Amino acid sequence: MGVIGLGARAEARCRELSRPPYSEDPNALTRTYLTPPHRAAMDRIAGWMRETGMSIREDEAATLVGRLEGTKPGSPALVFGSHIDSVRDAGCYDGPLGVMLALACVEAIAAAGRRPPFAIEIVAFGDEEGSRFQTSMNASRAFVGRLAEVKLDVRDRDGTTLADALTAFGRDPTRIASVTRERSSVLAFVEPHIEQGPVLETAGAALGVVTSIAGQWRLKVRFAGRAGHAGTTPMHLRADALAAAAEAVLAAERIATEGPADLVATVGQVAAKPGAPNVIPGHAEITIDVRAGTDPVRDEGLRQIEAAIAEIAMQRGVKVEVERVQNLPAARMDARLQGLLKRAAEKFGHAAPELVSGAGHDAMMLADFAPTAMLFIRCAGGISHNPAESVTPEDCEAALGVLLAFVDVFAAEQPE
Ligand SMILES: [Zn+2]
Repeated sequence: MGVIGLGARAEARCRELSRPPYSEDPNALTRTYLTPPHRAAMDRIAGWMRETGMSIREDEAATLVGRLEGTKPGSPALVFGSHIDSVRDAGCYDGPLGVMLALACVEAIAAAGRRPPFAIEIVAFGDEEGSRFQTSMNASRAFVGRLAEVKLDVRDRDGTTLADALTAFGRDPTRIASVTRERSSVLAFVEPHIEQGPVLETAGAALGVVTSIAGQWRLKVRFAGRAGHAGTTPMHLRADALAAAAEAVLAAERIATEGPADLVATVGQVAAKPGAPNVIPGHAEITIDVRAGTDPVRDEGLRQIEAAIAEIAMQRGVKVEVERVQNLPAARMDARLQGLLKRAAEKFGHAAPELVSGAGHDAMMLADFAPTAMLFIRCAGGISHNPAESVTPEDCEAALGVLLAFVDVFAAEQPE
């Protein structure tokens, strides 16, 4: 099989991995961390890796690592990777496509009898989505040495701790520190991933180069007004907590719409109490998710939204409490690697526009550890985290071609 077929095969392998025994659900893809489908997928992928001549190991966070030695055995590695776990009712490309494209890249290199001057590794992380335990990206956190953030005592909904799940999977959680890589063993990290948004499709581009992974603030905003009878309380004597929350929803939307293009704000949850049709809501709670490609833009968006909320509460005579529940700083991708990816794409006549990733990825964890880049692949309608997730074999061929060219331009830059 020539290079032409390998990208399409990467796409087909993602579909193969979306069915039992690689899914917990016979009718949809659900593959969560440290479950039998996770084991089955690792074994299948390890088999494909072995066929290419890679050596295989599994670290104590249950990350599968395949390695193709370069011309000098034991040399540092160019590491490709993504995740092989999924959300519930997932599409089959979010995560696995990056691993399958990396595998296709190694297959093409091995089939050509070529060896780059460095090793190539493929890592398949098992818990990017955090679908089983409340925490996500433990495997990549451990990989880069952020061990304090790896909480082994978190429990899944059946009460099983992460430590016990690792043990049952054949790993040793007491040796989790052994997962952390020597900084000098990783030359760079590249994560190919479906875009999960509509930007590339709208631009008519098969591929894109990520400039940064958006930083995120997550807020809980609680309004406290006065509950009252919906029939007997005149409008001017009310302190309606839900009406204040509704105004806050629109303020967040307006601020993000009028702000820089990469600033987005979303209210995804609304709750009102007491929640009866004939009672004025005395309490209302909303979540606000604020993201942007850089922290200054994200933080200025947050500042304006919080100021607007305070003003709304004052005008309406309700109390408000804003809790900042999550703060994920933006992760910048490496400028030199971005340039190399663009150059590799141009070799194939692909413009590969730059874009910000609004979603989080393992690459966020790697970015502070080693030079890190992401190559995005167009997906139909921007749909993701949904069985309708779709990429074309042609776009996968294009991505493979770019990854192969990237290995060449990256090799040309290495010191002798
Ligand atoms: Zn993903």
